[in-house]
This record gives sequence, structure tokens and C-alpha cells, in this order.
Amino acid sequence: MNEESVINKSVTVLPGVAEKVQHKLNSLNIYTVGDLLFHLPLRYEDHTKIVSAKNASPDIMVNICGKLVYTNSKFTKKGPMTECIIQEQDGTEVELIFWNLYPNQQRNLIKGKIVLAFGAITSNFNRNYVMAHPAFKLYDSYKDIEMPSELTPIYPQTNGLTSDKISKLVNYSLKLIEDESPEELLPTEVCPVSLVDALKFVHHPPVDSDLEQLGNAQTEAQQRLIIEELTAQTVAVLQSKIKNASQRAYPLSSEHLLQKTLISNLPFKPTAAQLKVIKEINADLEKNTPMMRLLQGDVGSGKTLVAAVSSLAAIEKGFQVALMAPTEILAEQHFLKISKLFEPLGIEVAYLNGKQKAKERRSELEKISSGTAMFAIGTHALFQEQVVFKNLALVIIDEQHRFGVEQRLRLLEKGAVNNKLPHQLVMTATPIPRTLAMTSYADLAVSTIDELPPGRKPVTTTLLTHQQKNKLLERIRHVCVEQKWQVYWVCSLIEKSEALEDCAAAEEVAQELASELQELKIGLIHGRLSQEEKQSVMEEFKLGKINLLVATTVIEVGVDVPNANIIIIENPERLGLAQLHQLRGRVGRGQKQSFCILFCKNKISEESRHRLEFLKNNHDGLKIAEEDLNIRGPGEYMGTKQTGVSSMKIANFIRDQHLIDKANNIARNIIENAPEQSIKLIRRWLNTNDQLSNA
Ligand code: ADP
Ligand code: MG
Repeated sequence: MNEESVINKSVTVLPGVAEKVQHKLNSLNIYTVGDLLFHLPLRYEDHTKIVSAKNASPDIMVNICGKLVYTNSKFTKKGPMTECIIQEQDGTEVELIFWNLYPNQQRNLIKGKIVLAFGAITSNFNRNYVMAHPAFKLYDSYKDIEMPSELTPIYPQTNGLTSDKISKLVNYSLKLIEDESPEELLPTEVCPVSLVDALKFVHHPPVDSDLEQLGNAQTEAQQRLIIEELTAQTVAVLQSKIKNASQRAYPLSSEHLLQKTLISNLPFKPTAAQLKVIKEINADLEKNTPMMRLLQGDVGSGKTLVAAVSSLAAIEKGFQVALMAPTEILAEQHFLKISKLFEPLGIEVAYLNGKQKAKERRSELEKISSGTAMFAIGTHALFQEQVVFKNLALVIIDEQHRFGVEQRLRLLEKGAVNNKLPHQLVMTATPIPRTLAMTSYADLAVSTIDELPPGRKPVTTTLLTHQQKNKLLERIRHVCVEQKWQVYWVCSLIEKSEALEDCAAAEEVAQELASELQELKIGLIHGRLSQEEKQSVMEEFKLGKINLLVATTVIEVGVDVPNANIIIIENPERLGLAQLHQLRGRVGRGQKQSFCILFCKNKISEESRHRLEFLKNNHDGLKIAEEDLNIRGPGEYMGTKQTGVSSMKIANFIRDQHLIDKANNIARNIIENAPEQSIKLIRRWLNTNDQLSNA
């Protein structure tokens, strides 16, 4: 075996990195020398030359230099201020203004000293040159000034670890890999620049580099690093796919008699899109390798039916199916719906939730372990130790963006019995944009329901401000009383659903609305209610006993009450677009026209307005998801930092989209022709504690 590359060694091999510094580096997610080398500058400053104030373009950071001819300090409302005037060698005078200087800095500003100041010339009216709070150095004579010959990198820093200190550590690391000259893992045609040269370039670009090109990661060196990282990511996921293909699962080929019966019992016809994806799933289930399929379909496209029908392929062959939902409310709803569908077929459904009484829970567990129940529904509770399946062959995960990649992989292990993995179907209403699908989700086959059941009308979306509240209340009163419509009122304070503040806000809003709309029955649901309370509120709402349901974002996913036609979302500017689209999907489930009211503060930023207008004008979940990804980046978009997606060091899924196909090709080539390289690539680029690298 080769000796471990310095890239994978701990930062503690660097001089000056003891516990304290190590800790600070760790807080920047830097653990190894490699992490440090891939910790790239945010921007660069040009300290290579001195310009004359006369020639400095306004607002561009430059170095100027001159002899200190005047200094004066005084106290102002904004704090202590020091004014200096320096005289450049050609006689031009420049005023330097400093705020809150340290006493020793102030003491050193002595007339006659040579000042090298770095900042922007902010005003040059009447040849009056001013530079506000520049960084500065003092010299005794012009001869003593030494300028660097390269651009100066400015690093993302953390408290107590300055850009300068990081730069020193990076330079040491650069020296270490230069001595080692690590192996090139990609073919030279793809990477004309060596890894070492590329890293040296990005940390110390030469003076004549195009700063704009650098800023957009367009230089050859940056592109080379990006392509290697994207390739490594793709290799990792593809490997997990290969590993999966070597696993065994129960092949479930059946006559599909149960499926036919269930479909003929429905009060409606499945859409062509639903039938198409059922076929795709059935074909996967017949194989003796585990299915890993992502089912994406916009809100309301009827994924639950697809899940129920697909399950019957397993049940008909005598195997069990587990359906996992992200929230109790949703699990409950699936339980009610699917039990109803399965009852005529004589299939028993077990239901587990976190708050069940011991006796009830025991009985459900018994049904699962004995196989009396062929179908089990629950939240994460389904995959706890005590739950033992008799013969689980298919796991269905609903609304998967709530679960990270890591959980997804762990779940698979849990299902393994007799060396057989269960088939896996992951359902999501938040489609995975192509860029992610090709990299972080490349191990999943994708089915798409690209059609809504007939008769659905797009939800009419309107922006209203708090100023228009009375008008809004009037309208709600009217439709609830006259037309027996039902309304959701969603409070969101912060993004994390079920957060305490949200619950408190919801309580307050419910009280307020109850006094403002006395003719209506107002309900309230949030994460702090007990399971029974939530259940009974939802039940009353479904039965039409509640006119207006105040909720936190707990209702975000999956809840289905066809008579609810209006959803009001308070403070929509705080939520992501994909999440808003999900919320909006709570209405528009029946035949009537429905409405989504984005109820904003009186003043919102231009940017927020722009985002909300986008939502108003778009109804395609995929387009909305892509816009969201554009604006907020993958970590935010996926709702978890654990996705393995956000752990990218240099590449950026949006900016670097154009390289993804290329990386995909290289990755496939490596796996086929140089499998030993793939392990090294994963070691180099993926966090060692990342699930994927263990796959
Ligand atoms: P989602 O894909 O968002 O999970 P659901 O499965 O909750 O959607 O379905 C939304 C609603 O559409 C449910 O009330 C369901 O019964 C109904 N539905 C599903 N498929 C059809 C269909 N083919 N025709 C009419 N209604 C359907
Ligand atoms: Mg659903």
C-alpha cells in the first residue's frame, strides 16, 4: 500500500496547529490538510503595486503611498476619529480617515512616516482625495517598502483565525503537496493542469490574472478542480448504485390480480401517468436486485394511489410492505386512506406512531411480526429496534426531501433480512432538479407522474399585504358562511417547522381570528399538540366542523382535505419557494377553483417580491424547485445539511451545471476502466465521515 497522502492527514501535521487552532479550523469544516487546500479564497486583493490617488478609479481597492504631513484626532458622535493627510511623491495630498483606532496605532501615526494605505478613494471632487478607514502599514523610508508579487488571497475566516493565519497554513500545506506531488487521478486530457499547479494558482493567482474570470471560477485551474470534484461525487453515488446491484431482493412477479381489483374499485380512473409509473415499478419489482426508484410527482398528482397499488405486487406474493411518512399527521392520513382501499381486499394494515399506548403498540407490533398485517404505516417509529417484520420486501418513503441521503442509506440496512434487501420506492413532491439527479441522486432510477388528475384547476395565487387584512377577513367570512368553503391559515415565523415560536404565533393568530370572525369555528393545529389532539382537530376539519384551520407549517406535506379551497400563508417571504408550493398544494384538490393568498408584511424587499411573483405565475413544481435551488443553493433547498450535496468544496451545482455531463462521462469511464482510481477520488474529495464514501 502507498503511504497515506498528505492530503488525507490531519491539520495537526502543520506547524502551529495545536488544539486551539485545530478546533477553530474544525469549526470551518477543515479537518485535513486537503480540507485546508480546498478552502478557497473568497476574493483576492491586489497589493502588488502602488497607484497614485489621481489615477485610482473610484471604489476600487488600491494601495497608495505617501509621507504623513498632518494628523489630528477628535471625538465625534460616531466615536474617536483620526484624520491624516499624506503627501504622495508627486505632491498630491490624500486625506485618510480612521475610526476607532487602537491607541498604539494612533501613537505610531507620526508626521514624517511613510504610510502605505489600502482602500478605496471615495471622493475626488476638486482633487480632494479621501480614503476612509484603509488598512495601513508605516515605514521610515520608501526604500523599506516590499510589495508581494502575487495577488493576496482573502479567506473565509472564523473568530480568532484571520485570513492571514489561514494563508500561512495554506502556504505550508501547498509546500507539503508540492514535495509529495500527489498522483493525478483524472486523465491529462481532462486535466491539463496538475492538481498542485491548480491549487497554487487558486491560492496565489499571478498579478495579471483576470479578476472577473477568477470570481466566476472560469479559469483553467478552477475548472480543473471543479471537474475533479464533480467526478468524485458522481463516482461515489454510482458506486453505491453498483453495490446495490450486487445485492439481492425478493423478485415479486405476480399476476397483479389484487392491483386490478383495487383499480376497478376506485371511484375514478387512474391517470395515464399513474398507470405508466405503476408499470415501471412493477417491472423493477420483478427483478432479484433491489429497486431504488424515486417517484416524483407534483402535489396532488396522486402518489398515494401509486404507492398502494405498487404494494399489492408484494402483498400478492405474500410479502410485507412498509410505508414511512415524515410526520404523524401524514402517517395517520395514509393509514386511514390505505386501510379504506385495502379493506375490501381483506388486507390488514398496521399503524405505528410514537405516542401510542403500550398495549395498542404491542398489538400492532404483533401484527407486523406475525405477518397478520401485510402493510405497515408509520413515521421513523417504523424502523426502531423493536419492530420486527415477518418478511418485508418493499419499503416506501413518502416526501423524501425530509429525509437526507444518509437516512435513506441507513434505512436500507435496517430492512435487510436473510441477505435480501427490500425494494425501495422514494416519493417526493419536490422534484430533484436535473443537476442533483445526475450527481447526488444518480443511484436512483426516476419515475415521474407528469399529469394531474383531470379537472384540477391551477390555484389562483394572490399577494396581499397586512393593510388589506379587513378585506381578506370579509371575503373569508363570506365564502365560509355562504358557500361552506374551508380555509387554511398558515403561520410561519421561521423556517423550521414545528418550532416553538411558530406554535406560539399560531396560538395568538387563532385567538385573534376567533374574535374577528365570530361566526366561524376556528381550529388550531401545531407541533406541540399531542397526537390525539392533532388527530381530533384534523378529523373535525375533514368533517367540515371547523371552518378555518390555523396551522403552522406542519401541514406542509401531504394533507388532503378536498373541501378546503383557500390557503392563506402569513409571512410567505420567510419560506422557500418549494415549501410554499407544497403549502399551496394543500388546496386545489377538489373540482372547485381554489385560492392561495400570500399574506405579506406591508413592506417586503424587492427580492422577496420577485420570488413571490415567480410563485404566483408558475405552477410547475419542477420549475419552482429549480428556481429555489438557484436562489438558495442545494443545502437549503434539500432542507438538510446532511444530504452529502452541500459538502462540495469547490463545485457549485448551479454555477457549474455545464460541467455535469462531462463529469458524469469521466466518472463512468473511471468506474469501468480504472476502478482503483475511484476509491482514491472518493478519499480525496468526500468527507471521510460521509455515508457515501463508505458505500
Ligand atoms: P400527492 O401526490 O400530493 O400525494 P395524493 O395521493 O394525496 O397526492 O392525491 C391527491 C388527491 O387526488 C387524493 O384525494 C386522491 O384520492 C385523488 N386522486 C388520486 N388519483 C386520482 C385520479 N386518477 N383521479 C382523480 N383523483 C385522484
Ligand atoms: Mg402525498
